[in-house]
Amino acid sequence: MKRDVVGVNVPALRSHNAALVLDLLRTAGETGISRLELAERTGLTPQAVSKITARLRADGLATEAGHRASTGGKPRTVLCLVPSAAYAVGVHLDRDELTVLLADLAGAAVALRRRPVDLGAGPGSVLDAVTEEVRALLGEVPSGGPVLGAGVAMPGPLDHRAGVPGRVTGFPEWAGRPVRDELAARLGLPVVLDKDTNAAALGLALRPAAPGSFAYVHLGTGLGAGLVLGGAPLRGDRTGAGELGHQTVRLDGPPCGCGGRGCLEVLCLAAVARGELAEAARILGVGAANLVRLLDIDQVLLGGRVVLAAPEVFAAGVREVLAGLDLATPVGLATARDAVAEGAAWLTLAPVFGK
Ligand SMILES: [Zn+2]
Repeated sequence: MKRDVVGVNVPALRSHNAALVLDLLRTAGETGISRLELAERTGLTPQAVSKITARLRADGLATEAGHRASTGGKPRTVLCLVPSAAYAVGVHLDRDELTVLLADLAGAAVALRRRPVDLGAGPGSVLDAVTEEVRALLGEVPSGGPVLGAGVAMPGPLDHRAGVPGRVTGFPEWAGRPVRDELAARLGLPVVLDKDTNAAALGLALRPAAPGSFAYVHLGTGLGAGLVLGGAPLRGDRTGAGELGHQTVRLDGPPCGCGGRGCLEVLCLAAVARGELAEAARILGVGAANLVRLLDIDQVLLGGRVVLAAPEVFAAGVREVLAGLDLATPVGLATARDAVAEGAAWLTLAPVFGK
């Protein structure tokens, strides 16, 4: 099915000030926010806010949602984001599993499909599977709302600006394949490609009350980190930041698929394979401590399939390592099973809100 994606004929989406207003509507949720508060929070004049909100309402992105009592004056009309005004696809392409989900404009998942894949089967058949699942998902778009695009998250290394994977550890056949452009052509949608860890970190960074700087440490089929500093993901100029799994923690340790030895990932996954989860947690804790000391972040968030299978073991193990080093950084869990796929949808949604 071919979708009319340029149908989001929303000039407002191209305006920086409109993005500011939309982001305040997004974070206000169902409570809504008045025009006066929007003016106070953005520094825009009430006239400018009225003009922007009129345009957002005309475009179906915002709606009036009743009145709220205000101190002193008359009750104020509040405005809300209309989550069904547009949708985005999030794709999590893992080494052994494909998850595609449809998120509304507020980032909430409204449909999800999952199937096993083998990244080692090579890009040809795997991209066929992605195309098939996304097309099926697009058939589930409520009332045919416009789909802004698809965010695709996969293991690194990769170049997110070029939309091309690098030498994914253990899967060299993906290196240099123009995954983003190929999927964009197949799906007829704008596509953004990023690392799985960056996508999850972006989604987590956009939650209300998220800390300004944190590391999302992901342990699943691989080990990596998504870094958020000053509210924005730190990708590095070559999308090479956050390769936590390939930090050498044991000189002359066992060889790793990346070409190095004694990498955090190879040691941690070996402990997981032996069923020694407490030891795996301790190794993960060493990696987390290195990150905390390097970046002085507000929080460490643990996620990924292996962590979520024994969350308390991993949280306790990582906390113990940090405490032993007198590091007071809180350790939390990113418990959403589909944090990467949800974050992948945010790759497309975030620019709407100026993020
Ligand atoms: Zn390595």
